[in-house]
Order: sequence, then structure tokens, then C-alpha cells
Amino acid sequence: MAKLFDNHGRQINYVRLAVTDRCNLRCFYCMPEEGIKYVARQELLTYEEMEKMMNVLVRMGVSKLRITGGEPFIRRDMMPFLWKLSKMDGLQKINITTNGTVTAPLVPDLKKMGIHSINLSLDALDADRFFEITRRNVYKKVMETFDALLSHGISTKINAVVMEGKNIEDIIPMAELTKDQPVSVRFIEEMPFNGEGNHYEKLVWNHRKILAHLKERFPDIDKMPDPPHSTSANYQVPGHKGSIGIIAAYSRTFCGSCNRIRITPQGMLKTCLYDGGVFNIRDIMRAGATEEQLKTTFLDALGNRAKDGFEAEKRRSLDLPISESMATIGG
Ligand code: SAM
Ligand code: SF4
Repeated sequence: MAKLFDNHGRQINYVRLAVTDRCNLRCFYCMPEEGIKYVARQELLTYEEMEKMMNVLVRMGVSKLRITGGEPFIRRDMMPFLWKLSKMDGLQKINITTNGTVTAPLVPDLKKMGIHSINLSLDALDADRFFEITRRNVYKKVMETFDALLSHGISTKINAVVMEGKNIEDIIPMAELTKDQPVSVRFIEEMPFNGEGNHYEKLVWNHRKILAHLKERFPDIDKMPDPPHSTSANYQVPGHKGSIGIIAAYSRTFCGSCNRIRITPQGMLKTCLYDGGVFNIRDIMRAGATEEQLKTTFLDALGNRAKDGFEAEKRRSLDLPISESMATIGG
């Protein structure tokens, strides 16, 4: 089957699949306090539809899948679906992004099925600040997941969105987690996907400021080589077991080597995080599309891909300011 390339010669081998838009937290950078209007259940891709779509994509060269959401582990029957995916020929890596609130008891099975790595979202190491950001009192549960991941030897990354007035005090303590733990702590620029359509005029904590802040405490921090297609610029404090990443998600410094597509919970294909969605896979599957038709549709969509996130954002000029929640995209 033809491999999936875009019109800029970039091969797509990585899919980010948001399996639900539902979430049990209300992180203020992602959702308003009252939540978002969830997609009707029958509009969500079914597990069978996700599996069929992934089978086609894997045959087109996709080897890496990230399961995200919403909170993936609050969708019913998530674990049997993951077991199925873990046995899919050609799918080499399955990663999951989770808020960790209900994940701890599942970790032994995640280990058994060979999940490659888990990104745990944790924006503060202080329980009060955690509550202020997520609006839910579940810090202990998330830390239980962190401990379970480490004790089971699952490769773990922590995702922390850096926000003026919210968690600046946490940056250094979080970076210090890398001293004794083999964990990658990644600091992410805040993006406008908060479900409300309002956003700061100018990002205060951009990747340069985050790095400068880290350098004040760790003047000898080393730049590490970044793996191909990495969205994070990676660093290590000499002698520390883990590493530190900075993700310029709003500044968009990494688009040139982008190898990923996103599928939303209702089956919308996004060829860029910043586009408004280019076609709905669920609709064509429910209309009876064959594998061949699905393949052609993916190839056509990628044949008209924006070169970077700025162009993608411009193309959605009728749909601005960006008002969707990251829970409907998956990060
Ligand atoms: N609920 C899961 C979680 O929080 O890990 C998975 C979905 S969440 C949308 C995926 C990632 O997107 C999280 O690491 C979260 O911190 C990040 N995220 C959400 N909204 C964001 C925003 N406005 N700017 C930057 N990152 C954001
Ligand atoms: Fe839920 Fe994740 Fe969004 Fe927080 S970032 S509200 S945990 S989907």
C-alpha cells in the first residue's frame, strides 16, 4: 500500500488518537470550569472504527500511536481496546497521555501489554496549586500513578504547562525530579486551546524564558541531541538520571520535521494541531468506504497540508479565535 507522505515530502508515521473528549479534570488551560459541551456518544468513533482506521494507517507506514483524549482511561472498555492494539502487526510503539487520576491500578497491565511510554500530565508538585489548576482534589491519585509507573519501569514523561501566576514556583522542583528519577520532565508553552476562545495577548513563558529560568538554577545544564521529529528541545543537568524538555508548542519551532496527524474523538482528521480539521473519517467509514477509499482520502488530505502551524492557523481564518478545548484534540 502507498506510504503516507505530505505535499512537503514529510512522511507521516505517527498518529495521535483522541479516544474521548470526556474528562474528570477541568485544567484551566484546557477547559472552562463548567466543562465543555461533550460530543454525543453516537458521534464518537467506536473502537471497531478506530481499529479499522488504524489498520489502514499502519499499512500506510504508521508505526507509532499515541492514545490521548480527554482522559483516555475514563472511556469504558479502554483496556480491552489497548490489548487489541498492542497485538496489531506493524504498530511498533503505543504511547499514552493521561492525567493519572484513575491510572495507577492499570499500570501492571499496561506494562504487560508492552506500552512503550506514558506521558503523565502534572503541572504542580504542590497539592494546593495542583487543585487551583485542575479544579479537582486528586493530587494524591496522580502521584500514585507516577510512583506505579516508575516502580514498573515504564518509560515516563511528565508534561507540565507553564503558566504565569499559576505554577512558576513548581518549575525548579519539577526539574529536580530528574535528579534521582529516570524521568523526562517537559515544560510546555501554553496554547490557546482552552475551550473559551480567550487568550493572552502575548505568551509570557515562552521556550526562551523557560530555559533562562532553568539556567539560573542549573547553570551547567547540557543540551542533549534531540531525537528525529522531537517536539521538545532536550537538556540534562550533569549527574541527573532523567532529562528536561522544553516544548515550544505556541512558538512552533518544530513544524519542519512534523511526522504526525491527529484524529479527534468524532473522527476528524487534523493534519496540524492548529488547523480546524480537514475531513471526517467516521462519516466516510459509516458511509461504507472500502480500505482503498480510506487510503485515497488520507493521501488526498495530506496532499494539501499546510507547511507549518502558522499557515494552518491562517487557513482557518473564519474560525478564529481558536475556541476549542484541547480535550477535543488530544494535545
Ligand atoms: N487528559 C489527558 C492529560 O491531561 O494528560 C490527555 C489529554 S490532554 C488534552 C493532553 C495534553 O495536552 C496534556 O499534557 C495537557 O497538559 C496538554 N494541554 C491541554 N491544554 C493545553 C494548552 N492550552 N496548552 C498546552 N498544553 C495543553
Ligand atoms: Fe482533562 Fe487533560 Fe484537558 Fe486536563 S488537560 S482538562 S486532564 S483533557
